Amino acid sequence: MFETFDTKAKLTNLLNYNQQQLTDYFVSIGEKPFRAKQVFRWMHYNHTLELDAMTDLAKSLRAKLQDTTSFGLPEVQLEKVSNDGTRKWLIGTDNQKDGTSNSVETVFIPEADRGTLCISSQVGCALECTFCSTGRQGFNRNLSVSEIIGQLWIANHTLRQEDGYDMLPNSDRIISNVVMMGMGEPLANYDNVVTAMQIMMDDHAYGLSRRRVTLSTSGLVPQMDRLKEDCPVALAVSLHAPNDALRDEIVPINKKYPIKDLMNACERYLVKAPRDFVTFEYVMLDGVNDSIEHAKQLLGIVKHVPCKFNLIPFNPFPNSGYDTSKPEQVNAFRDVLMQAGYVVTVRKTRGDDIDAACGQLAGKVLDKTQRTKKVMPIGVQL
Ligand code: SAH
Ligand code: SF4
Repeated sequence: MFETFDTKAKLTNLLNYNQQQLTDYFVSIGEKPFRAKQVFRWMHYNHTLELDAMTDLAKSLRAKLQDTTSFGLPEVQLEKVSNDGTRKWLIGTDNQKDGTSNSVETVFIPEADRGTLCISSQVGCALECTFCSTGRQGFNRNLSVSEIIGQLWIANHTLRQEDGYDMLPNSDRIISNVVMMGMGEPLANYDNVVTAMQIMMDDHAYGLSRRRVTLSTSGLVPQMDRLKEDCPVALAVSLHAPNDALRDEIVPINKKYPIKDLMNACERYLVKAPRDFVTFEYVMLDGVNDSIEHAKQLLGIVKHVPCKFNLIPFNPFPNSGYDTSKPEQVNAFRDVLMQAGYVVTVRKTRGDDIDAACGQLAGKVLDKTQRTKKVMPIGVQL
């Protein structure tokens, strides 16, 4: 368990700043810019959040920071380790009067050649995709920068102290990749997510290359255009349907940004992207979007966008109204795409025993809207 550092009200939380913002803050309190870089490195490169340990800072500066600033990490409420090594943290955000709290989840997925951390960006989500348990619970609030980067800080700090989590080959890292694929729509919390990703990629912090940071979006077209200018990381797009009628139903943001607009935005994004393809995510819902005809339609809509496909077996949750596609159906769907020359991966479900699989990351969020009780319509059939 971590102490919640940010209990001292009215202190400036230094974990909310990227390096430039921290420099501006230090200048504003009459300190030299290089002091900001030192503190930034202590926080993120050395995982040190104790002023006393920041030995290259003058005692007078440490005293000043002690009185006016804090290192406010979110609180870890629960940690679980799966049989397959997947690890999940339940991160508490606000304590409620009834004793519950709003929580988000962070998941670490170890593989032979990489360690991937799946990070949340919002408490709940407003976009109401019908097959997503986060979407069912409605929107609560955006996470702050410190709550987003705090997930990476906590995971790094914990894993480095644990037996059984080795450094990756030829590297001093355990976490080599970050995916913004946890709870929430990252592009709906644009400023905080971009600032947190800038910290992830800063050489004085976590030093991840932008090829190794992937943002997954359900398709907020204007923000995709902004992201390609501000912080062009690798892009995954949650497509899930091969025509507007079905996508309108299961990914309702499609009514605002239909498939054609989304595909055009993907093409524009690729001009600046660190990889020369977009990954299209496609959750396989039995009898809803998984027919051979759907696969053929899909080939038609992505024609102009260099891409790979990631087929995600639907992870069920109570009252979802959906079933997981049968493995034969997933394979037949995959084969249509592969025969057309596309690279297709079928996502292995990891961490199922600790409810850490995709779309299951919402179990403990307070349901303000009671929407989970409503049985949602099943997608239209072709
Ligand atoms: N809001 C963003 C990122 C978070 S969701 C987005 O939608 O892309 C991450 C991925 O999990 C998305 O592709 C989403 O569609 C998928 N997902 C959501 N619920 C799921 C479920 N029950 N089973 C499998 N995948 C799910
Ligand atoms: Fe939100 Fe993504 Fe879930 Fe849709 S799939 S409701 S955008 S978190």
